[in-house]
Amino acid sequence: MDRSASPGVGDRCARRHGPHDTVTGVSGATRTLGDVSTSVRRPTRRAAAGLAARVAAGENPIGRARRVNRILRALAEAYPHAHCELDFATPIDLAVATILSAQCTDERVNQVTPALFARYPTPADYAAAERTELEELIRSTGFYRNKATSLIGLGAAVVERHGGELPATLDDLVKLPGIGRKTANVILGNAFDVPGITVDTHFGRLVRRWGWTTEEDPVKVEHAVGALVPRRDWTIVSHHVIFHGRRVCHSRKPACGACTLAADCPAYGLGPTDPGEAAALVKGVEREHLLELAGITGDGP
Ligand code: SF4
Repeated sequence: MDRSASPGVGDRCARRHGPHDTVTGVSGATRTLGDVSTSVRRPTRRAAAGLAARVAAGENPIGRARRVNRILRALAEAYPHAHCELDFATPIDLAVATILSAQCTDERVNQVTPALFARYPTPADYAAAERTELEELIRSTGFYRNKATSLIGLGAAVVERHGGELPATLDDLVKLPGIGRKTANVILGNAFDVPGITVDTHFGRLVRRWGWTTEEDPVKVEHAVGALVPRRDWTIVSHHVIFHGRRVCHSRKPACGACTLAADCPAYGLGPTDPGEAAALVKGVEREHLLELAGITGDGP
């Protein structure tokens, strides 16, 4: 599938980012930084401090709902092709891939799973797997002994309790070996079309930075965000937030100066605000599109 940015998105954004917005305290004057041309919609220092102070003091519900909606719209525009980055064809494939993704990159998991899925197409096949052979197939994902135990236990439990079919409810899924609430929500949202919020490390970090919640516990984060976002959008919003966390809003050095959410983010300034420096931190195949949305062009490859 072509995951590149849709033509025309940049045009819509060029209109959205006016040269100067005195209402929101956003400055967007075009300037040149070396060979980097910017017309970035970034908050002024005063506006950024004001938003951070309002959020810290307890933002009023209407103001927060509007800010949440602006962030949701900007994320949808930034990541029109957001999707589960684990490859799978069936619910059991996705359950297995998600278990393997613990302490491992999705890219690595996707290298391992074609051979794995071909060798073990059903839960019954995992239940009957020869441990040494299974461990060898998943070794490169790390913690392979524990993961093999989970996969064999998962297969056996699905066969014994659910007639060999992965169940489609949160209550049933979380009782299966190797499947916690996060994994269950990934499976529900992506294999069964049941809306689910996936609170992984990226999701928790970003929604706290945006002041959507102060909770650290993933279940509390899930409920807090669930109250702010329409239920039908839970799965796609999870993808949008995780995409942004992987590409722009990094854990240690977020690319604030190249972030399309800057005007609505109380954590703006946590990372570099200089557009050129920030642009260098943006990752992924959508990079050019993301920089265009942020008003940055011509920073090279
Ligand atoms: S990159 Fe900076 S401005 Fe953007 S969401 Fe993260 S902390 Fe906020």
